[in-house]
Amino acid sequence: MFWADEFLKNRRGKEWINDAWTPSGITHMGGLKGPVIHDVLFRVLKEQQKDVTYTFGFDDFDPIDGLPASIEVSHKQYMGVPTFMAPSPDGNGTFADFYGAKMRDMFAVLGINAKIYLASENYKNGIYNTGIKMMLDNVTKVRKVYEDMYKNSLKDDWFPLQVICPTCGKLGTTKVTDWDGQEVTFTCLPDLVKWAQGCGTTGKISPFDGNAKMPWKPEWSVKWYTFKVTIEWSGKDHMSKGSSFEVAANILQAVFDQKPPAARAYEFFLWNGKKMSSSKGLGLTGAELLEVLPPEVARFLMIKTDPNRAVEFNPKGTDIIPKLYDEYQKAAEAYFEKGDADLARAFELSQILEIKNVPPVRFSVLAQWVQMPNMQEKIAEEGLEQWATYARVYIEKYASDSEKFLIQKELPEAAKALTNEQKKLLQKIATELDKKWDAEEFQTQIYELGKEMGLTGKQTFGAIYTVLIGKDHGPKAAWLILSLEKQFIKDRFKNI
Ligand SMILES: [Zn+2]
Repeated sequence: MFWADEFLKNRRGKEWINDAWTPSGITHMGGLKGPVIHDVLFRVLKEQQKDVTYTFGFDDFDPIDGLPASIEVSHKQYMGVPTFMAPSPDGNGTFADFYGAKMRDMFAVLGINAKIYLASENYKNGIYNTGIKMMLDNVTKVRKVYEDMYKNSLKDDWFPLQVICPTCGKLGTTKVTDWDGQEVTFTCLPDLVKWAQGCGTTGKISPFDGNAKMPWKPEWSVKWYTFKVTIEWSGKDHMSKGSSFEVAANILQAVFDQKPPAARAYEFFLWNGKKMSSSKGLGLTGAELLEVLPPEVARFLMIKTDPNRAVEFNPKGTDIIPKLYDEYQKAAEAYFEKGDADLARAFELSQILEIKNVPPVRFSVLAQWVQMPNMQEKIAEEGLEQWATYARVYIEKYASDSEKFLIQKELPEAAKALTNEQKKLLQKIATELDKKWDAEEFQTQIYELGKEMGLTGKQTFGAIYTVLIGKDHGPKAAWLILSLEKQFIKDRFKNI
């Protein structure tokens, strides 16, 4: 059974799926896996006619704790400031909006139907007020969760809250030390964190209506409590023993007497065996992925294997991308021809608005066609424009040299090594060019001519590739020849 159907069988009652992300940087492709997985779960529950909601939080109340090199200087003063209060790297709107807009665009392309909410709005609108109050009233229970899990004791002045400093606007630098039932006592410390400096302000302030924020683990449990979240998966780093999920679940139990949502850990995309990371420059960004894969193929990549398996995805100079397209075509066949059920299901749940059939041509062939002059017409005729766009990106950015070919302006050096039979064959082909050829028939004719001269197929076609592109292999020879200017071919084939 397909993993999503397996996970969701025999569930009862109202469902609330949630996921979240901090809009503070460019998302690498692995960052799309959670949203896509949750979207698939959402669709399956919809199919089951369940009362289901899918929300996705932009955690824009999180303080900026690191910056991309390009804005390290311009934005240094905003380190520690919540992302919804800092200016955008491009000067328009807020820091959170800048990255949030890119994520919204990718959601739209991928057909992810989550309701997006902003953490800052929920805090400001008082949606988390009850959760915050219960968290502060029960602070001893929260401390005990941390103490039990991390085996170190927390002092009486430890509270799971930080306020926005009314003087300097920073959140990452403040420490709450007391709670009197109405207000919290706080200090903005110069040396609380290494990445930002506080201003020294001390005072009392209400913790409600957007003045303060919980650290993300207690905050996670408050989201579960507030929305009654029933399903939330997470990357495996957040779900292993002693990790954030467990802390949040234990706080939820201790303070709110509730059970955590149903969850599974999902594995990462790997880049040469390592976890992808945009800050380390390992892997593709989400935008780069969507430049080389149609959204339905990108979804397919995220869901075709059980999410608990890591997937290596370094497409540079490898055949990972053409293979993925092949697999997608196989999945389409499974769907339309009632083949392998899991593969068919993965295809079905990869679709965006409606089930779309796949092109009849393999991606690797198309990647050759887009390199041939005058193949545009054929690409249009066969309705391959969409995949051709991706094939061009593939050739330009990822294909190995052996897949790229360029028609050589001068006769390549390698032509000297051709045998007399091969040279004669080329001259013979040149005399055939004035006839009106269908590519398929011409391909057969070339093969027959070679055979008559005692050449193998490899020697026959190798001769053509050698004089045109300087390699011993290439795209289908007849198509290649017919796509080029006739006089150019005649000159090249006769004068060797
Ligand atoms: Zn301050």
